[in-house]
Amino acid sequence: MMVMYNKVALIGLGLIAGSMSLAMRRGKLAGEIVGYARSQETRNIAREINLVDRVCDTAEEAVQDADLIVLAVPVGAMGPVMEAIAPHLKKGAVVTDVGSVKRSVFDAVIPHMPDGCHFIGCHPMAGTEHSGPHSGFATLFDKRWCLVVPPEDADQAEVDRICDFWRGIGADIEIMEPDHHDLVCAVVSHAPHLIAYTMVGVADDLRRVTDQEVIKFSAAGFRDFTRIAASDPTMWRDVFLTNKDATLEILGRFTEELFALQRAIRTGDGDTLFDYFTRTRAIRRGII
Ligand code: NAD
Repeated sequence: MMVMYNKVALIGLGLIAGSMSLAMRRGKLAGEIVGYARSQETRNIAREINLVDRVCDTAEEAVQDADLIVLAVPVGAMGPVMEAIAPHLKKGAVVTDVGSVKRSVFDAVIPHMPDGCHFIGCHPMAGTEHSGPHSGFATLFDKRWCLVVPPEDADQAEVDRICDFWRGIGADIEIMEPDHHDLVCAVVSHAPHLIAYTMVGVADDLRRVTDQEVIKFSAAGFRDFTRIAASDPTMWRDVFLTNKDATLEILGRFTEELFALQRAIRTGDGDTLFDYFTRTRAIRRGII
């Protein structure tokens, strides 16, 4: 693989940034990788485990002379971070983000972009329920989708370059428009996370079933279904606050379906239940 950007600055040093750094090293995609995170503790850990080539104590220092800047902080922090680094970007620099929501990131970031710099949104569709600088690993993005979301007036050569960069990291690319991205993610990621969180909440509320019993018998479905409910609370709070419309639309439809099945159970309507499960089984079996 060849060097795609001479200097890459990672802002935020958690699961996604850490995994990107390790994958960039594996693919020799960057001349130098520097990183910054807001908390001193995270910066110290990143230094100890050699997560990036150099950890900087300010975001301004990290972005100095960087060719690619990756915003890898919770979605709600993207705008303020961009505002702080904007005056320190070199001409021609490319800024990207890895946020799970795109429209709100566009609205928060693009107004701060200096003339002569490029913004291209990205969303690697890969993650785990773990977070922080220790949680990254080089193969996280292998054969996973990275949705690339360019603004309408994006420079095509820079879009092509960032696509090649993500391919070098191991991902497959699909170009998407921001509002469609947010609706797709509400269906495949955001609503399922919310439902998993509520299943754990229900189990916790139901005093007649003890926590020990939930843990002991979780292999019956609970453990698989709720793995994602261990995900980072800050990240997910920001996802729901910023992808409000799409998530509410999907949750509205989910509630309708749930009520229909609830009614079928109450009225003993086995045909409805059987037909529903037959249809959804066929769809689920199409997902490897
Ligand atoms: P994480 O919690 O592991 O890491 C977040 C990092 O951002 C931490 O290093 C934290 O110290 C830093 N940070 C927080 N606020 C900051 C600020 N104001 N300034 C500078 N640094 C700050 O989170 P993550 O899973 O790596 O998520 C990062 C981004 O990637 C989020 O926007 C998330 O939506 C997106 N994302 C996450 C996943 C996933 O499954 N975890 C998948 C795809 C995309």
